[in-house]
Amino acid sequence: MDFRLNDEQVALQAAARKYARERLLPLAAETERSGTPPSAELIREYARMGFLGINVSAEYGGLGLGNLEALLVLEEFGKCSAALAFPVFESCVGPVRAIERFANEALRKKVVPGVCAGELIVAVSMSEPQAGSALTDLATRAEKRGDRWVLNGTKRWCSGGGHADGYVVYCRMSDDPGAKGIGAVYIEKGTPGLSYGRPESLMGFRGVPSSDLYFDGCELPLDHVIVPAGGFRKLMEAFDLERCGNATMGLAQASGALEDVIAYVQERKQFGKPLVDFQAVQLRLAEMQMKIEAARLLIWRAAVNAQNGLPDVLDSSVAKCFANEIAREVCGHAVQLMGGYGYSQEYPMERRLRDAWGWGIAGGAIDIQKVNIAAAMVGRRFDQRR
Ligand SMILES: Cc1cc2nc3c(=O)[nH]c(=O)nc-3n(C[C@H](O)[C@H](O)[C@H](O)COP(=O)(O)OP(=O)(O)OC[C@H]3O[C@@H](n4cnc5c(N)ncnc54)[C@H](O)[C@@H]3O)c2cc1C
Repeated sequence: MDFRLNDEQVALQAAARKYARERLLPLAAETERSGTPPSAELIREYARMGFLGINVSAEYGGLGLGNLEALLVLEEFGKCSAALAFPVFESCVGPVRAIERFANEALRKKVVPGVCAGELIVAVSMSEPQAGSALTDLATRAEKRGDRWVLNGTKRWCSGGGHADGYVVYCRMSDDPGAKGIGAVYIEKGTPGLSYGRPESLMGFRGVPSSDLYFDGCELPLDHVIVPAGGFRKLMEAFDLERCGNATMGLAQASGALEDVIAYVQERKQFGKPLVDFQAVQLRLAEMQMKIEAARLLIWRAAVNAQNGLPDVLDSSVAKCFANEIAREVCGHAVQLMGGYGYSQEYPMERRLRDAWGWGIAGGAIDIQKVNIAAAMVGRRFDQRR
């Protein structure tokens, strides 16, 4: 077991860090203020720089590197801005990976290279007004009529809602109850019958547009089926990778916060000496460092154990849950250590705390991850309904 990155990984991480510091950091505050997502031009630049589809196979326009490489880049981008890192998240661990893995060849070729080239944004739409943690209660339905699928229903909290070019939509595709009847389809922006709710105003995630989606008799070609009814397990397997991305976005808020705080506490003086000279501050810094390193190692373990396939549910849930919790805690300490400046919107700390909080709800709430962890530990599922 070797915990060191190899030379190529170190070089990729350094390149991502340099690009993020020089190119993204100057855009972060304005992205937050305006809530505007990264421009199409900037996303194409990410692609040209080799920062999209890092772990997607070269056959579909990716770089063909591993999950770990993708997460190294994601952390460096995420330290500067979660919103500006979002295209990396989407292209490396997002719903497009379910298309790459499970869809038919025509749909793969239609969508995946476009995402890797920065030409297409693809979002995922699972949650509904009455189906959040209880995802298998979802009611959006696709019905086969002749040579078409017809989609009806309402989705909620879609990151990218109203902005993305296409959506991976979890829906009922048979009359089988619960998970058995669930599959997923791909729907493109502009499909007649697809409309959006008002843009959501969230506590964080500014620059990641979010809205409801409404499907009113949307017609889809047969080859827009990603997985048919009965494919819920496959969708969840692809989601194990998304969990590692979610964990990394949380980690990035924490590790970015600590980097800034280390500089701040050495510079800021009170009682005639730098803050770092107070032992209570030293202990806090050490605690922050320990938690960040532990979270990073759990994420890397999940990524590497997957051998560039899809991670194990236990590894990815442990990593996400731990990273979600420590991200909130570490960012909270960072705000406190920066005093009034930490609380001011002139500085990125309060943004990091708000963004960190969101990752512990998105992609499955922290306590739901804990239920998954316990279930994997004892080798059975816990029915939440009985
Ligand atoms: C920033 C953000 C981005 C998101 N992006 C997307 C997206 O792109 N696509 C998408 O489909 N969805 C997205 N979501 C929705 C997200 O997946 C849901 O919010 C999440 O699954 C929780 O569902 P809920 O909000 O309905 O909360 P609920 O299911 O109502 O749960 C609320 C709380 O109740 C508790 N709880 C519920 N059930 C249990 C249980 N069985 N055991 C113990 N505790 C329980 C938990 O503490 C939980 O946090 C996003 C959410 C956020 C905040």
